Amino acid sequence: MTSIQFLKGVGPKKAELFGRLGIETLDDLLFYFPSKWEDRRLPEKREPLPFLEDAPLIKGKIKRIRDLYTSGSLRIFKTFVETPYGEAEASFFKRHNPRFDVFALLRKDLREGRTVWITGTPEDPLFLTRLRADEYYPDDDARALLMHIGRIVPVYPLTEGLTAKFMREAVYEAVLAGAEAVGDFLPADLAARRGLSARAIASRAIHFPENNFELVQARRRFIYEELLLLALAWAIKKRQTRSVQKGFSYEIKKNLLTPFRENLGFHLTADQAHAINEIFADMRAPTPMGRLLEGDVGSGKTVVALSAMLLAAENGGQSVFAAPTEILAEQHFLTFGKFLKGLGVRFALLTGRLKASEKKKLLADLAEGKIDILIGTHAVISEGVKFKNLRLAVVDEQHRFGVRQRAALRAKGDKADMLIMTATPIPRTLFLALYGDLDLSVIKEMPPGRKPVKTTEATEDIAFLAAADEVAKGRQVYIVYPVIEETQAADMKSVKAEFERLSVYFKGRRVAMLHGRMLSEDKKKVMEDFAAGRTDVLVATQVIEVGIDVANATLMVINNAERFGLASLHQLRGRVGRGKWDSRCLLVAHARAGDSADRLRAMVQTSNGFELSEKDIYIRGAGEILGVRQHGDMDFKLADMSRDGAILAQAIEDREIILAKDPDLVKKENAGLRRKLRDLYAARWNLIDLS
Ligand code: ADP
Ligand code: MG
Repeated sequence: MTSIQFLKGVGPKKAELFGRLGIETLDDLLFYFPSKWEDRRLPEKREPLPFLEDAPLIKGKIKRIRDLYTSGSLRIFKTFVETPYGEAEASFFKRHNPRFDVFALLRKDLREGRTVWITGTPEDPLFLTRLRADEYYPDDDARALLMHIGRIVPVYPLTEGLTAKFMREAVYEAVLAGAEAVGDFLPADLAARRGLSARAIASRAIHFPENNFELVQARRRFIYEELLLLALAWAIKKRQTRSVQKGFSYEIKKNLLTPFRENLGFHLTADQAHAINEIFADMRAPTPMGRLLEGDVGSGKTVVALSAMLLAAENGGQSVFAAPTEILAEQHFLTFGKFLKGLGVRFALLTGRLKASEKKKLLADLAEGKIDILIGTHAVISEGVKFKNLRLAVVDEQHRFGVRQRAALRAKGDKADMLIMTATPIPRTLFLALYGDLDLSVIKEMPPGRKPVKTTEATEDIAFLAAADEVAKGRQVYIVYPVIEETQAADMKSVKAEFERLSVYFKGRRVAMLHGRMLSEDKKKVMEDFAAGRTDVLVATQVIEVGIDVANATLMVINNAERFGLASLHQLRGRVGRGKWDSRCLLVAHARAGDSADRLRAMVQTSNGFELSEKDIYIRGAGEILGVRQHGDMDFKLADMSRDGAILAQAIEDREIILAKDPDLVKKENAGLRRKLRDLYAARWNLIDLS
């Protein structure tokens, strides 16, 4: 591996700056991909691409220059350039220095009569012919034409001290030094079948494409590469998880399951029963379960999870149930209390707010096996939490947990089963990419008697009147805002400010506030009051997005609805419509543009999460919910699963072909793939074992 320091113009200082970007070797630099590209070709030679930005650019003969002083100490060097489209003008700005001529170099380079290229930012967005200049190049500078101008140029994420121009030059050197030596690791027949360009060519073209086609091809090649490796890693992980023997077996005894069902007070839906069967079959299998339970908000996943935990308990095993927030963990604790009444199942709640002495006792009980079910927040993952025999780990609302946290939780048991639950339905390919090591159970139907939540757009006035109406009828209302406190962004309303205002507006009614930065004590109190009907209006942030279950709440008002992703809007809406009354969701938007208009329309059109998930905007905007970020800890250089679904589908298809022929990737043609997988998913992310 050649150190970056061997590159022309890179000394120890620059090397340190590169280090900040994670670039240490020439190879690192070669594979430091642009975040986007700028089109610096002449306007008539340009062709648009979604990820290619039009660069403001002037090319022509310099007619005259002006060297101006402003009243302050600022100096302006203006060039007037003759272009085929008329006269254009570019200005360079510098602070005046009495000791030398700050424009000496410009005066030398930009003489009248010379033909030059100048890039910059338009002084007025309407007049692209007046730039605040950034870079300039004489037209006879052959080197500049190779990498800086008159072509598509790469745009890199930078760090203070490294300029865009220097970066381009460094990468250009790296390409010259290394591109030819870049070995291809994809099996040749595969690359040919998918029409992928050779790696050596792509690794040049991703930085310095000669034309749009080369750029598109190079991107596709590297996106495919990333997604194929991911797909392979999941398949291998799945196989490895399933290759161990649990070493114990379950018997469906029903001494807990039967009284539990009788306690419920309702019949399970067919989908719930089906999911339970799938889970029980997994749990009784000799190898550990890894299953994702997908079901819309309010579809009743909790009782499914409880059934699984009771099966473990019937067989003397412990379970852990991890929820993403304290509020939710506490809610579950109460729910479990209701459903497990009289069963003699021992369950406990562990959150960060437990007193030291209580915690000590709880942990001791847990280690001795005196607790059957532990409910908790992320706290259940921490070091000190030890089980006697953890057999089942359940993760609720998984999008708040990362891949590593999941693994850490499972590792608390010896070959424990794992059930992961999500209320965010996703298309099949995305599921395979994000949770490729899991099996899938789906709850599509809602418990009987649920009425769809009627969703409309509304003004603030109408929304508040509707809220007053509901409260007068004895119902309760959520009013959600995007931020806790006022911010610079003047068009976003905050919980704190609006709480003050609404307390006056709803004078005589009981108004409370809830947000993530309150003390746990206070949060708990607010939630308890609301659940018990002691509060009429709850003014809150998105903290109430998951899990809150209050049947008497019938109206959800979402302010600045344009600020929320579709998946979040749907989750919030799911907080109402849980009782016997008609419920409504009112979307108060303060601005509407592009995607946000599409999102609001989709919300009004359907109340079904599975239908929503088919929409493009859902996937595009749901990055954080789907765990594209959380995923995560393993981020991609170029691939974006919310956009590259088609390539992903190909990668998954090809993975099946590759593994069918060579499950352990030991054949010669797959040696490259294996090496890459080992570097990335074994050594770096520790996801699989490839020793
Ligand atoms: P989610 O899938 O969003 O976690 P929950 O498990 O919180 O949904 O269930 C939502 C509500 O529906 C709870 O009050 C639960 O008791 C109730 N519920 C669950 N299953 C049924 C059913 N089969 N019939 C009627 N009500 C049900
Ligand atoms: Mg739930």
